[in-house]
Amino acid sequence: MMQTKVLNPATEQVLSTIELMDARQTDDVVRRSARAFEEWQRVDAADRAKLLRRFAAMVEADAENLAHMETANCGHPISNSHGTLRAVVDCMEYYAAAPERMIGQQIPVPNGVALTFHEPIGVVAVIAPWNFPLMIAVWGMMPALAAGNTVILKPSELTPLTTVRLAELALEAGLPRDVVQVVVGEGAVVGQALLDHPLVDKVVFTGSTDVGRKVMSSAAANLKKVTLELGGKSANIVYADSDLAAAAAAAPMGVFFNTGQDCCARSRLLVQSSILNEFVEYLVPAVNDIIVGSPLDEKTQVGPLISAGHRERVASFVTEDEQIVTQGQIPDGPGFWFPPTVLRSDDGSAPSVSQEIFGPVVTITPFADEADAIRLANSTDYGLAGSIWTRDIARAMRTARGVRAGNLSVNNNSAVRYQTPFGGFKQSGIGRELGPDAPFEFTEKKTVFISTT
Ligand code: NDP
Repeated sequence: MMQTKVLNPATEQVLSTIELMDARQTDDVVRRSARAFEEWQRVDAADRAKLLRRFAAMVEADAENLAHMETANCGHPISNSHGTLRAVVDCMEYYAAAPERMIGQQIPVPNGVALTFHEPIGVVAVIAPWNFPLMIAVWGMMPALAAGNTVILKPSELTPLTTVRLAELALEAGLPRDVVQVVVGEGAVVGQALLDHPLVDKVVFTGSTDVGRKVMSSAAANLKKVTLELGGKSANIVYADSDLAAAAAAAPMGVFFNTGQDCCARSRLLVQSSILNEFVEYLVPAVNDIIVGSPLDEKTQVGPLISAGHRERVASFVTEDEQIVTQGQIPDGPGFWFPPTVLRSDDGSAPSVSQEIFGPVVTITPFADEADAIRLANSTDYGLAGSIWTRDIARAMRTARGVRAGNLSVNNNSAVRYQTPFGGFKQSGIGRELGPDAPFEFTEKKTVFISTT
């Protein structure tokens, strides 16, 4: 059996050696999931809700352990991991309330009564990347379970630890065996086996746009439903009439959070020409003050990249010295470190402006006016998130409606809240996750007509 070494990206030490599953074992998992679905879909909504509340409580009780695991395996600063665990538990509690709210309709029709039901789809595969393994698994898993589906989690082979623990906690919470399972293995092997399996009914995929295309074409074979959360190249638009100090103070963590390994990273900084120099004066010290270091230090804001290979890819975008506005500091010694880096591309032609880097690199491009800002914001293949900084509410609304992206914030750089829908326009994805409607995305609507004649 093949094995892989799971590394700590901050120290390059081996955390554990795990066995990789193959396609035959994945087939076995899918068959068990399909069998468990027969039972799980019939669990009364109130009982399902109770089990999911208990699951959330088990995760909360294990939060400290899970936070340290995520930090060790992903290099997330420990303060971020604590935040992740709070967000994960809140999200779990939110969807634990959903089973009893899967409300259908009664529709007036002649000669009878028409009712609609939201029936679970069946076996749902949640394929997650390495950047936020636990959070992304939970975003897909919880609404799917709430709607009565069974779930197979496929973490990245680089970051499987918290996902494996999550499935153990599901069992300990009393969810029936095989309702939540994990397949640990290479994407091209076990991920592909899930995509090709006729008993998998829906795939929720988060990752690169290239693999997203493969997911969609493989899913076509038996018409699996798909939700795709793919890459981003989000713009942070700073107008001359904004609170410049606030916009500049927030801009660094708007892109460097999670070392830039965030699909919503605001990796393009579009700044109105008339205030460009003033903005850069505020921005440079804010970038240089960022604390990059040991993820276990409470003060650390930015940790390492996930792997040596990824660091090499990120570095390939920072080659021309004249483009560098400033670069922060990194620790000496082992670990896949890369400094927070600000580049400038006045004509917007640098590869760092159009390609997703997924690292701590942001490129500043000036714009002339509102129309120019919207044109530049829309000039990539992606459309996931973005920010607008202005004191003029009408301008903020016009710009928000003009930018073709799924998640925009005004005078703030946040994108994802479990209470609101999340997803991308254009090549950033298909479908939406989260928000009040997410469980319905894991159902088939059924109409039943009862004759009264
Ligand atoms: P991938 O798209 O390669 O991987 C995402 C998930 O899909 C992983 O679990 C991976 O498994 C799995 N996978 C890979 N190939 C297949 C396949 N043929 N069939 C089914 N599943 C598969 O992204 P990476 O994690 O390698 O990151 C590469 C780039 O993707 C980043 O640099 C970034 O640009 C983007 N990205 C975007 C994310 C987002 O949130 N939108 C998140 C992460 C990455 P395994 O890792 O085990 O091979």
